[in-house]
Amino acid sequence: MPIQLQDYQEVAGPGVIEELRVLGDRVAGRSMQHINSTSVGGGVAEILTRLVPLLRELGLEASWDVIKGDQAFFSVTKAFHNALHGKPEEITEDMLEIYRANTEMNLRDLNFVGDVIFVHDPQPAGLVLRKQQMGRQWVWRCHIDVSAPQAAVWNFLRPYIEQYDAAIFSMPDFAQRLPVAQYRVAPSIDPLADKNKPLEQKFVASVLEKYKIDPGRPVLTQVSRFDRFKDPVGVIDAYRLVKKRYRCQLVLAGGGASDDPEGEEVLREVQEKSAGDPDIHVLLLPPFSDLEINALVRASTVVIQKSVREGFGLTVSEALWKKKPVIGGAVGGIRLQIIDGVTGFLVHSPEGAANRIGQLLGDRRLRERLGENGYLHVKQNFLLTRQVKDYVLTVLALEHPHESVVLLG
Ligand code: UDP
Repeated sequence: MPIQLQDYQEVAGPGVIEELRVLGDRVAGRSMQHINSTSVGGGVAEILTRLVPLLRELGLEASWDVIKGDQAFFSVTKAFHNALHGKPEEITEDMLEIYRANTEMNLRDLNFVGDVIFVHDPQPAGLVLRKQQMGRQWVWRCHIDVSAPQAAVWNFLRPYIEQYDAAIFSMPDFAQRLPVAQYRVAPSIDPLADKNKPLEQKFVASVLEKYKIDPGRPVLTQVSRFDRFKDPVGVIDAYRLVKKRYRCQLVLAGGGASDDPEGEEVLREVQEKSAGDPDIHVLLLPPFSDLEINALVRASTVVIQKSVREGFGLTVSEALWKKKPVIGGAVGGIRLQIIDGVTGFLVHSPEGAANRIGQLLGDRRLRERLGENGYLHVKQNFLLTRQVKDYVLTVLALEHPHESVVLLG
């Protein structure tokens, strides 16, 4: 039987579902269309897969469309993505033209059906050009850290973004000077999805066996697309330092995303760097490996998300929910999830990561304490039910701009 809203009562806590139903009644019958750039791979697809059915259950006509694009387009938008995160990238007029042409193509091909249209991230941001003809409410939902963007890209995207009715950012640091309403909505994980639900120990053990991981020795794990911002090479450096003191193993599990053309190159770097060490397991997992990823995280002694740039980093909440101690790069939304020393440790370098990993491997009670705190932090702040509520509140805020709707309890 498909998961229903009521099923979240137990994990999310009493009152949450009732509150959602009350809010749902206020928006029932409205249509909410989400548009992004990939149906699998990466955090946005992960969230929409679970969010859209729940919004429907609340009575909204929620739908989800994915824009089309070829390799050239996604190379351009990956460069945009990097530049918005502050990495120097050469942006040429040709690249801007590719973006414009792809936007035109999607404007022709897509059906815009929402009363409210949520456009996720920069790739489809240009679709707002349709607003002039058809009206409706348009929301730009930005998942990335645009606090210090490269000017060439931000100045190119800004005229599009200014046409939206509102922009949503994951944390206050990402907000921009814009002449549109801005809301803060943090991403979330679905506690009942295959990625996060409780698993039988037998299954967890079978996954370790499949990948030849020794259950008798500590396991360090990072789950991420093979992306330089996720710093898998830095994770290997940290592991090598820890390895001098502990006979640990490292799992780097990742897959690709159809809108990320850099993945193969980074994977090759990681494979070269880890060659010859049987205790490093580089696992290239196909899409929909959620149960296996869940098992790998549950089997881990320490989970790492050593990003050097990050939008939010859902993998952090996914691990905290499983009561794992998490070491994360002190960037972007990881700082929302890891309260340093309370729900995990924030680090700034491979050496820093190695120190904290060593400390955790030597102290089981510390691991348990951080894990327990992390679980409660996610329960209070980063579960899907909270994000459903925030999106419904956004719809209400757009409909009643002069009423004071309190966003984000
Ligand atoms: N993920 C996955 N398979 C992989 C790598 C990542 O299913 O091989 C999932 C991961 O569990 C998380 C999402 O993809 O749910 C990644 O989201 P995050 O916010 O951590 O990073 P993003 O990829 O969006 O930058």
